[in-house]
Formats: sequence, C-alpha cells, structure tokens
Amino acid sequence: MDILFTRCFNPTFPTWIDIGTRDGKIAYLKPSTENPPKAEEVIDLGGKLLLPGLVESHIHLDKAYLLEQLTGDVTTLRQAIEKTTELKHGFTATDIEERSLRVIRQAVAKGVTRMRCHVEIDPISRLMGMETTLALKEQVKDSIDLQIVAFPQEGIFNDEETKGLMEQAMEMGADVVGGITYNDRDLDKHLDFVFRLAEKYGKPVDLHVDFSDNADELAIMDVIRFTHQFGMQGRVSVGHLTSLGSVEKEKATFIAKELKQADIQVISLPATDLYLNGRGDKECVRRGLTPVKLLLEYGVKVIYGSNNIQNAFTPFGTADPLDIGFLLAQTSHMGREQDARQLIDMVTNGAARSLGFEQYGLQVGAEADLIVCPVMDIRTLLYTRPERERVYKSGKLVAETTVQVTNHLKVATT
Ligand SMILES: [Zn+2]
Repeated sequence: MDILFTRCFNPTFPTWIDIGTRDGKIAYLKPSTENPPKAEEVIDLGGKLLLPGLVESHIHLDKAYLLEQLTGDVTTLRQAIEKTTELKHGFTATDIEERSLRVIRQAVAKGVTRMRCHVEIDPISRLMGMETTLALKEQVKDSIDLQIVAFPQEGIFNDEETKGLMEQAMEMGADVVGGITYNDRDLDKHLDFVFRLAEKYGKPVDLHVDFSDNADELAIMDVIRFTHQFGMQGRVSVGHLTSLGSVEKEKATFIAKELKQADIQVISLPATDLYLNGRGDKECVRRGLTPVKLLLEYGVKVIYGSNNIQNAFTPFGTADPLDIGFLLAQTSHMGREQDARQLIDMVTNGAARSLGFEQYGLQVGAEADLIVCPVMDIRTLLYTRPERERVYKSGKLVAETTVQVTNHLKVATT
C-alpha cells in the first residue's frame, strides 16, 4: 500500500473506515481495525472527514475574472451577455490560459478533482478557447480532470460560421455538446443541430436552458421532446432552468415528472441565478432559482455549480463548490441534517454519476481522489466550509492548506 488513511469518517459508512491507495487507485477499504495493513505512509485521521474529490459541474473558465475589465453596472442577463461579448474581442490565448489557471489553482486547493467547463465557440474568439482549454486539460491532468463542453454562447444560427466551428470543436476533442435555448431565434433548429451533433460524435448534451423568471419561457418542454426523440435519456444536463421556479405548482410538478421520465439532470447555478433574476420585479422580488426541492421530491437528479467567477454574470465567486452548496442550502430552505448530506452528495457522487465521471468515489478500484476535511460531521463541513487540509488526485498530494488562528479573546471570571 502507498498511503493508508486510518480512522476516517464518511457519512456513507456506518463506522470509521481505513482506506489504502496503491498506484493511484483505492486498493483497500474496510472498517477501521486495531491491525490495519502496512503502508509506506500512514495518516491517522482520528475521525476527521474523508470525502472523494469534489466535482465542479458547471463553470466558464474562459470568462472568469473579467470584473476588473468591466465598465458600468450590469443589471440584466442581456447586458451581461453583451458586455462579455465586447470583452471577448480582446481575449488572447495567454489571457484565457492565465485566467483559467487562476480558477483551477483555487478549485484544486478547495478539493475539486473533476470539473466540467463550458468553452465559448463563436465567430469572435473562434476556437481560441477550445485550443487553450484542450492544452490546459493536458497540462493539469495530474491534478484535475477537465471535461470540455463546446458552448455556442452567441447562438448557432446568428452567424453562419458557428455551425462549422462547433463541428470543428467536436473534432478537436470536446467531451460534451453545449447549447443555449435563449440565444437563437429558432429553438427547434438550434436543438436539432445540438442533438444531431451529439448523436454524430456519441457525446452527451449540456444546455443552458430557460434562464429567466418568466413562467412562459419553457424551452425545457422542447428539450424533453428532443431527449426522447434522440434516445438521449440520462445523457442530457440542463443548467439554470430558473423559469420553472416561477411556474405554478401543478404545472411545475407535471414538468418535474417529465424531467424524471426523460432522465434529464438539472444543474442549479444559484450564484448567477439569484444575482440576475428578479431584476424586473419592483416588489415581492422573486429569487429566480430552479425549484430544487420540488425536483428532488419527484426524483429528478439535481446538482449544482459555480457557473462564473467574478465577471458580469456573477461578480462573486471563490471556485469553492461548497460555497455554492451553502448558498443553495440557505436559499432553497435546505437546513436539515439530511439536506446537508444531500447537498454534499450532489457535489460528489451525484455529480460524478450525472456527468459521467468514471472510476470515482470511495470504493476499491476507483481513482484515489480524496480530500481530508477538519470536521467530524457533514453539517459543519457545509456550514463552515473549513480549509481542505489535504487534496489527493490519483493518490498524489496536489494541495495542502493549514490555517493558524490565534485567539486573544479573554473571558473575565465573575
Ligand atoms: Zn453557464
């Protein structure tokens, strides 16, 4: 055994466990014992939490950290798209690489070992984002697995060139076909192109869908229809889906059941959704979130992601997926112990299953992607989001964080 972690707490096991790694994989996993097997290095966690690496389900690396270049206030989705389109004219490969790496470094330190990123494919930056991110994927592969979504942010049919660029992106090695239901005039034509491309290259689909608080904007019904038509059940993800949060209960329940039947997974992006939705409401401002609890109640797979880090769409962001889980806990009324467990599952096993990351999880044979957290229960992890003490990718230590707090508080005796 290379490394043996002893006395590890993980909520999916009834007792503390010992986990051993060999050649980058989990090679041993049993309840803790007085006589654990031998290993080169033994790390006694003494009941601290050991999780599989976190999964960032939806992020835009190439648009991260644009805040300092922004001028004026951005208050709507349309403005955010327009301002970012303007900035894209100044993108260079080096600049995309630097901003992407800045996010990746932070994410790895927070325990992210797998990440799905959407890369812009459009007539402005053309394939520059794709080339840069593909190179990055190779450069950082010992620390993190990147899945690349070819994402036509500006629409596919607004400029004839985009169709060919999307095809080229798939040829170059994109892992997922992206799409957006609110940026092309003809939705059917857009979805038909995306699903045909996915069929041709045998790849899953990941769409930005219904990002508004308008209850009548329900492109999701068309996405469900295309999913059945192309036999893509279980291989389609939809991000945002916030219009559904404005739909009255009976209809929303019907749609939740349809989503379950089509096995479409929903990715909530609360940092952006809360920030840009509800802007038209002068009073009783809606949150503009997808109805997470309703979807879960009807068995729909729900996960969540950061979406953006410090740009026009989301001026906030730390690249720590647990911050997003915490935000969702607060804004989706998920404060119970079982909710905390569910939110952590959504950023680990649930996300890996939904996005097709393989050899994942605390099981023998999986990649030894592991994080050590200085807490002894799940609620404390989510509510305090402490440092990730050690982060391992395929059995190798890729980040360590220590925090020293010296408290000078004095409590007077009475
Ligand atoms: Zn997005």
